[in-house]
Amino acid sequence: MRINNFGRNVSFAAKHFYEPDSEEEILELLTRHRGDAVRVVGRLHSWSDAIVGDDVILDLRKMNSVRVERRNDQPWAIIAAGAQIKHIVQELDSKHGLTLPTLGLITEQTIAGAAATGTHGSGKHSLSHYIDEIRIATYDPSTGEATVRCIVEGDELRAARCSLGCLGIVLSVGIRCRKQYLIEQHFRIVKHLSPALDSESEYPQQQFFLLPFRYDYLIQHRQETTKKISWMTHLHRWYWFLSTDVALHLVLIGIRRWLRSHVLMRLFYRHLAPLTIIQGWNVIDKSQNLLTMEHHLFRHIEVEIFVPRRHLSKALAFVQELLQYLDGNLASIGQATWDDLERHGLHTMVRESPSYTHHYPICVRKVLADDTLISMASSDEEAYYAISFISYDSPTNRASFHSFANVLVRSTAHLFNARPHWGKYCPVDALAAERLYPKLAAFRAVCEQYDFQGVFRNKWASKVVWNEPTSLEPCN
Ligand SMILES: Cc1cc2nc3c(=O)[nH]c(=O)nc-3n(C[C@H](O)[C@H](O)[C@H](O)COP(=O)(O)OP(=O)(O)OC[C@H]3O[C@@H](n4cnc5c(N)ncnc54)[C@H](O)[C@@H]3O)c2cc1C
Repeated sequence: MRINNFGRNVSFAAKHFYEPDSEEEILELLTRHRGDAVRVVGRLHSWSDAIVGDDVILDLRKMNSVRVERRNDQPWAIIAAGAQIKHIVQELDSKHGLTLPTLGLITEQTIAGAAATGTHGSGKHSLSHYIDEIRIATYDPSTGEATVRCIVEGDELRAARCSLGCLGIVLSVGIRCRKQYLIEQHFRIVKHLSPALDSESEYPQQQFFLLPFRYDYLIQHRQETTKKISWMTHLHRWYWFLSTDVALHLVLIGIRRWLRSHVLMRLFYRHLAPLTIIQGWNVIDKSQNLLTMEHHLFRHIEVEIFVPRRHLSKALAFVQELLQYLDGNLASIGQATWDDLERHGLHTMVRESPSYTHHYPICVRKVLADDTLISMASSDEEAYYAISFISYDSPTNRASFHSFANVLVRSTAHLFNARPHWGKYCPVDALAAERLYPKLAAFRAVCEQYDFQGVFRNKWASKVVWNEPTSLEPCN
């Protein structure tokens, strides 16, 4: 059976494909396929080879229950691995007045898939951080029999929270929930980074966008509120859906894919883009309505780098220099940056990189330090900023995006210790992964304890996490 991901940049064939609907069936499948390589897929919204398997593939979409209980006087949800986040949020809200502690930009992913790659939103930790109990199907190292293990603490929990699917089959997760809340939001455009960062304390859930061609900052100020939803909220929902989720994307895709006009793209950002945003319009809505978008409506590809807070301003300045350089402005990279690139042996790669014109707002989100071993914001103290680059080029015409993403990931890993998102386009190699993730060895140790035969790693994980030679072609 052929399996394609959302971005259509990853495609693979599996020998065996199953959609089990119970834990018993999963254990029976593990027994039947003892010794075979096993991978689980969620909703295939990853752009990296984390999803690839060529032997046994399981899709747990039929296991989607959501059960709420109280532990230590806190609301707590036990969620089956295949439940989509949109289903979970709907169940928690309508039946219990609760919600998840954080949300990414979309809610199409499964809970296990989202956690496995450190999926995050803005102003909170990543989803993985909030998971406190994980049940995993794997093989018992002493008997070799398929078994279920429950992980609740220590490095085992930190590894399982963001596991890239390498510990075993996640059956369910236990996650702290919180009471449903309202968000108040408005937009503002500022010229420089410092006002965008200064407003963080007042608007902890804000995110901001560096606009291509203009290089000013569109801030989406967001904070929790106890004010009431008004009739304007309904108007805003329609306005946002029609103007941003649909019209903006159609215009960008039209200019990029069909008209292929650099001049029109520049004109759009210079003169029209700011007009599509009503600055200062204060709206209040339920958390899931303002923290998410319908970003999955149009196929695209994305690379996202996580920069430690102390490097953010230099990293954003570098991004701007690099994008302008690749767009033909050869003077945009200053001598100090060339010197830095040369010191790391990266200058030839940048000089020889093919041209690339970026055409989508660059989203910047703060992610608090995660208590995990290898999520991108894993850290003992420092927050990370996720900087994302999206391309709407058609799947057959992405060569320039890939070369840009490769240059971006390699150079920012050296210059700013930037970590690429495991679930997005992720051209990271084993040497870089070892340097970027100080707890990678601890992660491997936990995996080896839970998966003593290595059947739950795929070739990509073997190559990047275990530095094993494989015949894997890079994803494209
Ligand atoms: C339009 C779009 C918007 C996005 N927005 C965001 C965002 O705002 N923030 C963000 O951080 N990311 C975002 N992402 C990335 C996305 O959240 C991740 O790639 C996520 O992993 C996808 O979840 P999935 O359910 O599709 O899992 P898949 O992509 O199918 O799988 C991801 C990983 O999880 C593993 N896995 C899945 N289920 C299990 C299981 N039961 N047991 C063991 N391993 C399992 C898979 O083997 C694989 O390694 C976005 C992606 C898209 C396409």
